[in-house]
Amino acid sequence: MDNILSIDLEEWYHPEYVKSKAPRTKEERITESLNKTLCLLNDYDVNATFFIVGEIAEKHPETLEKISENGHEIAFHGYHHEPLWRLNAEILQLEVKKFGSLTKERCIGFRAPSFSLNNKTKWALKVIEDAGYKYDSSIFPTKTPLYGVWGAPTRPYRPSYEDLTKEDENVKLWEFPLLVYQFAGLRVPMAGGFYLRFFPVNMVKRAIRKANKDGFPAVLFLHCWELNSDTPKLKLGPYKSFVTYHNLRETKRKLISILSDFKFTDLRSHVESF
Ligand SMILES: [Zn+2]
Repeated sequence: MDNILSIDLEEWYHPEYVKSKAPRTKEERITESLNKTLCLLNDYDVNATFFIVGEIAEKHPETLEKISENGHEIAFHGYHHEPLWRLNAEILQLEVKKFGSLTKERCIGFRAPSFSLNNKTKWALKVIEDAGYKYDSSIFPTKTPLYGVWGAPTRPYRPSYEDLTKEDENVKLWEFPLLVYQFAGLRVPMAGGFYLRFFPVNMVKRAIRKANKDGFPAVLFLHCWELNSDTPKLKLGPYKSFVTYHNLRETKRKLISILSDFKFTDLRSHVESF
């Protein structure tokens, strides 16, 4: 089974815990982070979905071209990487429109910054559906300190616009929840990012195998800055620094180990097959 690999194309200063601490004048690292990511994907012959922050596409239009030329999918990750709980439907509508004016190919996928889609921000789904999007991949079907939708399905489904934990077959939009590992009544996030850096890689592999055995693809994500060992690191306090920077040097090795054992592709290929 083809699993799903997604890359969140954002700068090192976009994550929620870094944003408020970042200096006003910031070094840009997007070009080298993207190049490293593209090289790695090329070496393992994998197509991925790139969820792109709009302001990066605006400032560096060549990033979009490079991603498309290499056969990857272009999708949207918010214009300024603001979580949905700081936006509203009107603002998101404008953001989607602005991003659409920058891309040559039609964009059909969305990931909310900081996985901020939940039952309080579910208005966002109607906005992206109205804009012609076919899928969303923002739901972590568990609870973490920053995000999560407890009780949401763990496999791809069509989410009810009334309650994201329910499926509604009349809805056209697909949701691709991020990978969690279920055992003993727990749902442990395993989809990538901090979780890939923190947990032993064999545990992540076990979670992928379990999803595939249950008949659905595992959805994994990485930030392109996690694949760049020169990513600037700020002092964020013990917890936030741990979550943001723990084991960054190991990201590449672990991802390679996973790419060697499993097949991956982008989200649009899955949506087309439905
Ligand atoms: Zn992000």
